[in-house]
Order: sequence, then C-alpha cells, then structure tokens
Amino acid sequence: MIVQVVVDVPTGGTDRLFDYKVPTHLQGMVESGMRVIVPFGPRKVQGFVIHTSNESDLAKLKEIDEVLDVTPVLTNELLELGDWLTTNALCFKITAYQSMLPAALKAKYKKEVMLTNHEYLQELPIEVREWFKHRKVVDWEELITSGDKQLLVLVKKGVTQGLLEVIHKVNDKVTQKTIRVVEPVSVNSLTNQLHQLDNRALKQKRVIEYFLDNPEPISVSALMEQTDTTRSTIKSLVDKLVLTEKEVEVMRDPYVNRRFKKTEPLPLTAHQQDVITPIFHSLIEHQHQTFLIHGVTGSGKTEVYLQSIAKALEIGKEAIVLVPEISLTPQMVQRFKERFGSLVAVLHSGLSTGEKYDEWRKIHHGRVKVVVGARSAIFAPFRNIGIIIIDEEHEATYKQEENPRYHARDVAIQRASYYQCPVILGSATPSLETYARAKKGVYQLLEMLTRVNQVTLPAVEIIDMREELKTGNRSMFSKALHEKLSDRLARGEQSVLFLNRRGYSTFVMCRDCGYVAQCPHCDISLTYHQTSRSLKCHYCGHQERMPQTCSSCNSEHIRFFGSGTQKVEEEVAKVFPGARVIRMDVDTTRKKGAHERLLTQFAEGKADILLGTQMIAKGLDFPNITLVGVLAADSMLHLPDFRASERTFQLLTQVSGRAGRHQLPGEVVIQTYTPEHYSIDLVKNHDFHAFFEKEMGVRRLQSYPPYYYITVIQVSHPEITKVIDVTEKITAYVRRSLSDQSVVLGPVASSIPRIKDRYRYQCMIKYKNEPRLVEILKEIIENYKKETNQGTLQVSIDMNPYVLM
Ligand code: ADP
Ligand code: ZN
Ligand code: ZN
Repeated sequence: MIVQVVVDVPTGGTDRLFDYKVPTHLQGMVESGMRVIVPFGPRKVQGFVIHTSNESDLAKLKEIDEVLDVTPVLTNELLELGDWLTTNALCFKITAYQSMLPAALKAKYKKEVMLTNHEYLQELPIEVREWFKHRKVVDWEELITSGDKQLLVLVKKGVTQGLLEVIHKVNDKVTQKTIRVVEPVSVNSLTNQLHQLDNRALKQKRVIEYFLDNPEPISVSALMEQTDTTRSTIKSLVDKLVLTEKEVEVMRDPYVNRRFKKTEPLPLTAHQQDVITPIFHSLIEHQHQTFLIHGVTGSGKTEVYLQSIAKALEIGKEAIVLVPEISLTPQMVQRFKERFGSLVAVLHSGLSTGEKYDEWRKIHHGRVKVVVGARSAIFAPFRNIGIIIIDEEHEATYKQEENPRYHARDVAIQRASYYQCPVILGSATPSLETYARAKKGVYQLLEMLTRVNQVTLPAVEIIDMREELKTGNRSMFSKALHEKLSDRLARGEQSVLFLNRRGYSTFVMCRDCGYVAQCPHCDISLTYHQTSRSLKCHYCGHQERMPQTCSSCNSEHIRFFGSGTQKVEEEVAKVFPGARVIRMDVDTTRKKGAHERLLTQFAEGKADILLGTQMIAKGLDFPNITLVGVLAADSMLHLPDFRASERTFQLLTQVSGRAGRHQLPGEVVIQTYTPEHYSIDLVKNHDFHAFFEKEMGVRRLQSYPPYYYITVIQVSHPEITKVIDVTEKITAYVRRSLSDQSVVLGPVASSIPRIKDRYRYQCMIKYKNEPRLVEILKEIIENYKKETNQGTLQVSIDMNPYVLM
C-alpha cells in the first residue's frame, strides 16, 4: 500500500505530493484525510494523506512512521477544496489544509482514547477490552507502545462503531476557571460608610456609589474598570467590612451556562415570503444557486435565514452561518441558539484552543447541525451541507489577510457547488462586486426594501461642521446633535454615539513647531492613550511615555489633538452632567466577555448613551434607541484605498440602522466636514441604488473592481535599496509577461512605507483576463524562495486585497 502525502514543509519546492509506503501493521489504519508522521530528509514531519494507491513510479520508498488519526480529519470534499485554494488564494497545499483545522490538531497535543459509554465495554474485542476494564480513558502513547501491532486496527474499528472516541488533550480548560467577585455586605453598610468617608477618598466614594446603584456581585476586574479604581481601594473597603470578596466559578463556554428561551418561527410577511420561496426551491431541488438578499436594516433578513435553515434541517442537511465577528454581535448568536438550541455550535476568535476544538468535534461527529461562526467557520467539517449563509456579506473581515488569503464568499460558493445547495449573501449595503454580479444575473437578486411591520427608516440629518465653526460653535457636538441628545436624556430614551476607529487621530503635536510624535519603527504617528498617559503605535505595539517637551524644539507646548472615544466621553460628562455613558472600544472590551457584558448593561437600560467605535455599528437591536449621532463621518473617507467611499457609505448606513428599530421612531445626525460627498449625502435617503450607480462610474473610470480584478505584490526588507531593487525586477517581469490589456503599476512605496523597521514597496496589477497570471505569480515566489526562506526578504501576493496598506 502506497500513500501520497503533503508534508509540513511550507516552501515552493516541497509543495507537491510525496509517495510513502505503508508498513504492514498500519495497512488497515491509513485512509486519505488522515494526518501522519513521515521521514523527510533528516527530519520527521507531519503530513496529510491525500490519496492511497497500490503503486508508485519510484522504486525505493520510505515508510510512514506513525498515523495520528483513527478517522480522517479532512473529508474528500475538503481535500479537494484545499487544492482549489492553492490556486485561488495562491498558497501552499499544507497551508490550505492546516487552515481548515483547529489549532489543537496542528500542534503536538497528547491524545487519549475514551470509552464513550461503560455499557459498550462488552462489545469491544477482548484485546481492547483489557485496556478499558478499569478505566474510561487510555493514553494513545500507551496503546502504540504496547507492542501489539493489531491493537490500533481494533481501536480504529471501535471508533468507527462509536464505542470509542479519540480526543486531543488540550490543557487550557483550567485557565480562567474561577474569578474573584465582590459584593456589598449590606446597603446599610454602604450608606454608613459613605457618610464617614473623608472628602478626599474619591475612589472609595465611587465604588460605594456604584454598589448603591448595582448591588449585585461583580468581578474585581470589572469593578476596577467600571469605577476606575485600583485593587487597593477595593481591598480597603473589604477590610472595613463594607464589601465581601469571594471566588466563583465561571464556565468555559460562554453559552453553556445560559438558558435560551425557545423561539418559534414567525409568520412571514409578504416580502419575506417572496424572498424565501426561491431559496426553498433551490434547497428542495438540490440546485446550487447564489442568492443576494439586499434588505434594509430591520427588513427581516435574520428571520429568513432562520427559516431557511429550519428547512435545510428538515430535509436532513446541515447549515453554516457566517457573521462578521461573533464577539461583536452576541445578539445574533442568541437568535440562532434560541431557535435551534443545542444543534448549534459557535466558532469565533474569542474561544480558547480547547473550546474551539470542542466545538469542532461536535461538528466533526455530527452532534450539531448548524454552525454560527466568523470567517474560518466556512471550513466546518460537515458532510452534507444544505445551505450556507453569509450575513453582512460586504464586511472586509470575510477576507483573510494572511496565507491562505481566501475570501469566505468564494469558499462558500465553491463548497455549495460541491453539495449542490444554495448560498445566501445578505446585506443592507452589498459590496459593489456582489451587487454587480447580482445585476448581471450571476447571483439571484432578492430585495427587501422596507422594514418589517411598517416601521419607517430613521430620518437622517447631515450637519456641515464647517458651518458650525463659522457660527462660533467649537464643541464636538453640533447644535442639532446637542439638542437632540438633551431631548433623549429628558425623555429617558437611549442614544448611540459613533466615532470611527479607536483613538481616531489622537496624535501628539507640538504647537510651536508642528512636530508630530512618530513611531521609531514605523512611518506612522503614535496614538495617545489617556488611561496609561502613554503613546502607542497601533502597528507594532511600540509604547512610550507622553513627552513633557517637544523632542524637536524643546517647547513645552506639546499636546494631543483630535478626539478619541475617551475624549468624547469626557466631553459628554462636561456637557451633559449626569448622563450615564457606556464606552465600547478596543480598550474597554479587551477582556473576555466584556462586549456582551457592556451590551447587556445597555440593554437593561443602565446607561443613556452607548459611545463607541466600529464595534457598535453592527447587529445591535435595542428597542429604546431613538437617536444615533455620528461624530466624524469623514475619517474613513480619506484613507488611501479605492474602497474608502464604499466603506463610508456602508458604515454610515449600518450605524443609522441602529435607530428606531421598533415602536419608537428613530433619528440620525451625521456630522461631517464634507457633506457634499456622495458617500455621505446619499445616506440621507438610504439610497443604496444611487450610491451603487455613482460609485460604479468612479470604479469604471479608474479601472478598479468590479470592472477589473486587482492583485498586489508587496515586498519588504530592512534595507530600502534592496526593496526597491526587488520590486523593480518583479514589476518589470510582470509587465513583460502579461498582455497589454492589463495595467501594471509600480514600483511604489506602500501607503505605510515602513512597519517594524521593514521598508515596504509594491506593484499593483489591474486585469480582466490573464489566464497565465497564477503561473507567473508562482514563478515569482519560486524565484525568491531562497531569500524569503531565510526570512529577511518578504514577498507577499494578494490576489484580491481588501486592505491596501
Ligand atoms: P434584519 O436582519 O434585516 O436587520 P431582523 O430579522 O432582525 O431584520 O428583523 C427586524 C425585527 O423585526 C426583529 O425584531 C424581528 O424579530 C422582527 N421580525 C422579523 N420578521 C418578522 C415577522 N415576519 N413578523 C414579525 N416580526 C418580525
Ligand atoms: Zn510602530
Ligand atoms: Zn516643537
């Protein structure tokens, strides 16, 4: 028996199949899709078995050392998909396969074999039964070193029969198992203490006031964050017997502990019915079709997803649902859990290695039928997919920005065509590429242009901040926004304040000479962070103290400019004393579960204003939000990226969609310095179609997608002369090799010309049809293989870049 193996040596020369012989004692074991250990040169490496056969062209073959799996971890479909990825995402085979598996299966974790149920003991053959007589779990290591060559084959049989299960031991389950929480001893003790406090004991006062409002237990870390205090303040209150502290257990799976009320399908509206009919048809007839649901925010897309999935389950199939980033949209997960209960697995980046592996196993063993997850969930190892749904399909997070650089949408369509099933792309603001394809009939366009139950879309007002300045208003709130906010506070309704990007332009500048503090390793300005009073680089993590004097002219007039979320929070406190604000940005949500906790507090009405960045733009559905204010609509517009207008329009539309989703009507105020720009102006009438036409015109003129495809080759190296030299050679080679229909631009410095002390240059290719392109790009990679393997030179190629930096 011979196997063809892809080895874990990710370089150009080894990106092919290698033949190995299977020793006799492993012959009943090995199947395609399993991981093996094979000798490779002087080393032992991991590999994937792609095929098995009876012959090889080579006379002398080495033998495989070890089989790592008892059942295949990759199905034939996924093996094929990996092959497709190598050309469509331009990556090595091994990288493609590894990206489909949870990290627990990549590293060398210990394995054990578990008897799934004690009653099965008698059904095991005697040789295996011996091992499990007195234990439920046996180390894999023990079994393979037992000397009994037949044993593994028998174990494998037990696994296929469901009597045994192989589990990878990932020991991160113990971390974060308990947390320390504090709670007040009694309300009396709080009030007594409050009266006794020295006027200067501000921090203790804040903690006591917090508990007077929220008497429930809270974790020490959350309390410190909420009240901006330190451990010692809390400790002194514990010592005074005002608070008590204790250790409580927390569950690993954030959803395990929670009860979900089961929801029933809603009777569909006429619009929803029109949209779901062709989807059902595709499902029942096993016809692969890609649908685009263009539905305004609140049009009932999610209900359509839920009922389409229910249909897929009804006919015995499985469903994959992708959402941009689950930790940002806990409400979305909740709706799937409420409808399908324990049939749902959830996969996202916030889970630990062990948790991800647990979810993956549920899918692999068919214990769940629905996966809700972020981008990589598209590789969920189902065997009978009935439907794939991509919500907010326009989001850039669906494109992976490292190898393999795939777009989840393309992978979804590829998998769905294998299973002959429908793909649903949903968005209020579809990407230009997708909408253009839908208009051409490549995808089937389904529209839902009104909200459910006659709820109207919010009224949008665009405020020209230049005019505000002229009338003498120097505040970050326009007159209109100020009035509307006061109004909401008076009526007890909730508002959302949206500020694009974390720490938006909180750069530090000298007022005397104009010097701006820069990262010493990257060509980018440093960002001021108030909590630590430090400057940070968002690209390399470099951090330094806030300078007292200008390092260029020694002036003391150095200060920070711009408005980050922290600054807005301060301003709100000044302008609206007493308003309760929840701030959500990268700084306040770093800890696990922080998102959900803050959103829950807002949902429970514990704050009047939710202030945040991108992460509050998506998926929030709170009935009491009647006002959305956008503070700086332009900040994204000026990024050096041809999608800047599209992103601005999408983001503004999405944030606006948070207002007035239920009975109370909503209003939106957008503050901008460029109100005349179409990507801002057209948000006013929620006019996606006008935006699409306008932006398509721009893309056509500039030869950008969807009229042209683009590929960017980026070169980086610590020496600038080397970078320019290599990029010049690559550009010349590409220019020579492609047809004159294509445009080859470069070499030019990337828009951030240096990151982590490496200079960056690029070459951009715009093309319509270049059948030889992949081949040419592979030649380039191969040509620089030696230097890139050493690590000093990097050549990265993105065939459909979403982040142009
Ligand atoms: P979208 O996903 O397009 O933003 P949702 O599916 O969240 O829209 O629907 C918006 C609101 O309307 C939700 O509160 C949802 O429960 C409600 N809704 C959706 N479909 C129906 C229906 N057929 N009947 C009644 N309410 C509905
Ligand atoms: Zn830096
Ligand atoms: Zn200066």
